[in-house]
Amino acid sequence: MSKIELDEELVMNAIIGARIVDLDSNGLVNSELHGPEGFRARSHNEALALSRLNAVLQTSIELPEIIRLFFKEIQRALSLDGLAYEHRNNRFEYQLGDQDGYPSHYRIQTDSDYLGELTLFRTEEDFQQSDLEKLDRLVTALVFPLRNGLRYHEAVRASLTDGLTGAGNRISLDSILSREVDQANRYGHPLSVLILDLDYFKHINDTFGHAVGDHVLRNIANAIKATCRNADMTFRYGGEEFVVLLNKTDVAGAKIGAERVRRIIENLDICLGDASIPVTTSIGVASLCHGESREGLLKRADKALYGAKANGRNRVVVAEPTLANA
Ligand code: GH3
Ligand code: MG
Ligand code: MG
Repeated sequence: MSKIELDEELVMNAIIGARIVDLDSNGLVNSELHGPEGFRARSHNEALALSRLNAVLQTSIELPEIIRLFFKEIQRALSLDGLAYEHRNNRFEYQLGDQDGYPSHYRIQTDSDYLGELTLFRTEEDFQQSDLEKLDRLVTALVFPLRNGLRYHEAVRASLTDGLTGAGNRISLDSILSREVDQANRYGHPLSVLILDLDYFKHINDTFGHAVGDHVLRNIANAIKATCRNADMTFRYGGEEFVVLLNKTDVAGAKIGAERVRRIIENLDICLGDASIPVTTSIGVASLCHGESREGLLKRADKALYGAKANGRNRVVVAEPTLANA
């Protein structure tokens, strides 16, 4: 594995085509590369490729696009068949081309930031030493565009996430539900929503305090996410209300899913010292009727939720279809 770890000042020089710095795993500058010519492009063609690569990588702030452009550009300089990139903490991964064959792996970091793991693949023949040296220099051009892309990605993710529970927030629910409703209406896929409202939650706050209430909300959100096929489809809808989107799921599947979530919450062991805090939830279920809007779907699920509350709580109620679909 290579480690691309860069001193920022020296990399700024690299970006203007002067030097590329490679530090070994002990943080020592690799002396072989540290001569006056050490970090320069090794040929006129490579210098052109590097300067073109630097220019192209400035054109986007979106991580997938940066990586796609990088892969496309370095294929001009070197034969490559695939790429895999992953940043676990940022929950971002991206793959292009073929993931088999001979890998060359990089851990990318600057003095202050860890920027993820990059693997480049070749299917037919292994990388030669000269290829690897060339790759080192090309990968260096990715460092700052990648850092900017990661910061942007993180900012966007944070703006769509509820700070307390880590579930999606209302803004992301609106945009994802619009997209899912459009697709379901266009392709005729089933789409269902669950609206959950915790039962007597005010009582939990009043009895144990608001901080414990927050702790309960976090536990509930984690339990819902763990239960659902796609954790990214869980949203905090309001104070103690959550929405789960179940795409490609019809009303029968959604009812089973809702019943499973209800039971898991009922059986959750949320501890406070030696005591366990009992929590239950009421759930309204609705499945999209043909041509229905996002607002119409949520309204029916909300009405079903109201029915679940009125009928004693800790239960699932399925919404009637719209009149047009009845
Ligand atoms: P019901 O079974 O009818 O839903 O009863 P409820 O007590 O859950 O409903 P109500 O709407 O009366 O109360 C909701 C409570 O949720 C009141 C509010 O203080 C609490 N809540 C809302 N947001 C938060 C939050 O972020 N943290 C905490 N700890 N409590 C919250
Ligand atoms: Mg409520
Ligand atoms: Mg409630």
